Amino acid sequence: MWKGENKGGKAIPNIPLMIAVQCLSYTITNIRKQHNKAAFFNTFYFATTIRPLGLCTLDHRTPYSWDPPGHYKHLKKVITTQQLHTHRSQDWSFKTLRKLITDRDTITAIPSLTTEQCTTVWENTASPTLTNKHTEIAWMAAIRCLPTRYFMYSRGIARTARCPHGCRESETEEHILWWCKVAQDIWLMISAFLTRLTGSAAMTLQSILFGPLQGLRSH
Ligand SMILES: [Zn+2]
Repeated sequence: MWKGENKGGKAIPNIPLMIAVQCLSYTITNIRKQHNKAAFFNTFYFATTIRPLGLCTLDHRTPYSWDPPGHYKHLKKVITTQQLHTHRSQDWSFKTLRKLITDRDTITAIPSLTTEQCTTVWENTASPTLTNKHTEIAWMAAIRCLPTRYFMYSRGIARTARCPHGCRESETEEHILWWCKVAQDIWLMISAFLTRLTGSAAMTLQSILFGPLQGLRSH
């Protein structure tokens, strides 16, 4: 389970959730198939949780626990937090649950941009035309955590927030990427190349921070 790159994630697996969903899928399959001894424990502790989901029936001649151990309670919590109780299918395989959870992920919002623009920004940051380093920097720019002096100073990592190029201003993202004279010189030097790359001569701070909102060209 991980948030996709095109939704603002970093495609880093959420290992605890992945293990919990795998365990949930295994437990439910076991209860329904009764194909090994562990199935009796699973049924005793977890059948009362999955019966309301229509995944099994209770045999009232056998005992059930209404106060299961912690890990079963955790699986119950996973059903609630991931809203799996709305999954009406009988297919509770890990693959299906993973797809369900991943599909439901929402786009991470970026302040001042619309949802469609955010979608384009995340697609830009995950563009196959970028190298890993570029992707990393583009992602940091989108979530506004580039290691500028201002960012580091506000977290007690740098001694000063001042721009190191002799400007009298704080080195914020806006400054380092746009207002600083060094940045302006660099943009001027590569403006012809950027125009060819993006198809537009109009460069703004927003297009530098988030990539062109009409998307990147792949050629
Ligand atoms: Zn500067």
